Amino acid sequence: MTDRLTRRAELAERYLPDDLLARFRERAAVYDRENRFFDEDLAELTERGYLQLFVPQSAGGPGLSLDEVSHLQQRLAGAAPGTALAINMHLMCTGVVKAMGDRGDHSLDGVFAEVLAGEIFAFGISEPSNDWVMQGSRTAAVPQEDGSYLLSGVKIFTSLSPVWTRLITHGLDSSDPENPTLVYGFLERDTPGITVSDQWDVLGMRASQSRATILKDVRMRPERVSRRIPAGRVPDLLTFAITSNFQLLIGSVYAGVARRALDLAAAGLKARKSAKAGTTYAEVPESRTRLADAYVEYLAVPAQLEACCRDFDELADHGADWPLLLVSARLNASNAARRAAETALMCTSGSGFDNGHELSRLYRDATAGLFHPPSADAARPMYAAALLDD
Ligand SMILES: Cc1cc2nc3c(=O)[nH]c(=O)nc-3n(C[C@H](O)[C@H](O)[C@H](O)COP(=O)(O)OP(=O)(O)OC[C@H]3O[C@@H](n4cnc5c(N)ncnc54)[C@H](O)[C@@H]3O)c2cc1C
Repeated sequence: MTDRLTRRAELAERYLPDDLLARFRERAAVYDRENRFFDEDLAELTERGYLQLFVPQSAGGPGLSLDEVSHLQQRLAGAAPGTALAINMHLMCTGVVKAMGDRGDHSLDGVFAEVLAGEIFAFGISEPSNDWVMQGSRTAAVPQEDGSYLLSGVKIFTSLSPVWTRLITHGLDSSDPENPTLVYGFLERDTPGITVSDQWDVLGMRASQSRATILKDVRMRPERVSRRIPAGRVPDLLTFAITSNFQLLIGSVYAGVARRALDLAAAGLKARKSAKAGTTYAEVPESRTRLADAYVEYLAVPAQLEACCRDFDELADHGADWPLLLVSARLNASNAARRAAETALMCTSGSGFDNGHELSRLYRDATAGLFHPPSADAARPMYAAALLDD
């Protein structure tokens, strides 16, 4: 075993030991059924220092790399996808700060002290009908004389809505109509003007409680404004760091879901008996082939995630190819999760269709992967243009 694999096993044991995951898996069914937030999981993750994973050693944290966090998130998602998806948003915010520091920009390092002090970061970027995502915003950011901004708009799907204390978000400053500018920064939860929607009754990933956040003249203090970037396709280290952490950590969650679905598929084949064959389905050639094909497809997913994470950790310069690599890693992972869940349903047959079966929930959780930006439809033009040179 190489040092890297030994360390990965040690981190799994330290942060997500088997008995902890068994509790998370049991509770995931309850959170889903009762449509409630993962309070108990969060308490245990916090106690173990999971929310500090990305904080560098120089700032008093364990200083994990993106590759290491990706592997942990795959492991967590195999037990509790909703918990993993939501905690991802906090990890991603801290991963962004680490990534910027690794590239020489320490302007957001103060976030590390806040994380060590127990603050929980959320990611409030998605807005209804904003397919520009990070390159545009339907939230108004109105500049004030003191350098602050008043933000008004709706952020949809804010995971961790019951508990976050810091929100990384953006809005559009249109005060100069010729030069619309995106304003990125942080909001504190107790700032007047923030309300959280009471609507949340969705198909999957229910424990994430990703409720909409409504902003009405919410003041982003001058010292919490991180970036002013021209709207549109303008490269910037902050948005690059967000994209990289977002795509690879979201992909990690769905890779974990895919892996767990395949384990349930194998268990399903072993448990089902064929009266015709006189054996379990684990010995029926068609079933074995189905399982084998799904496994072959899945294995490419963690490999691609790891290659991207390690390149990112090692500051590899893929230039304009980065978005192609990052988005395909996440799309492949979410496709694999949905396909593996469907394969697993075929392997377990009717029992997996029961709402009390873990697989039925995994199948629903996997569908959330359809909605993370950019969708396959939104991404295709980028891939076509890259090959067609247009
Ligand atoms: C489980 C899950 C967790 C996510 N977590 C995050 C996160 O933490 N941070 C983040 O930035 N993004 C998050 N996303 C958002 C996601 O990444 C996509 O950006 C989002 O789903 C975009 O969907 P869409 O383009 O289909 O939305 P659109 O079709 O443009 O919008 C549709 C959604 O917005 C809601 N909506 C529309 N108008 C309003 C309104 N005025 N008030 C309230 N709700 C309204 C609708 O009910 C519907 O749910 C999450 C998505 C999922 C599925």
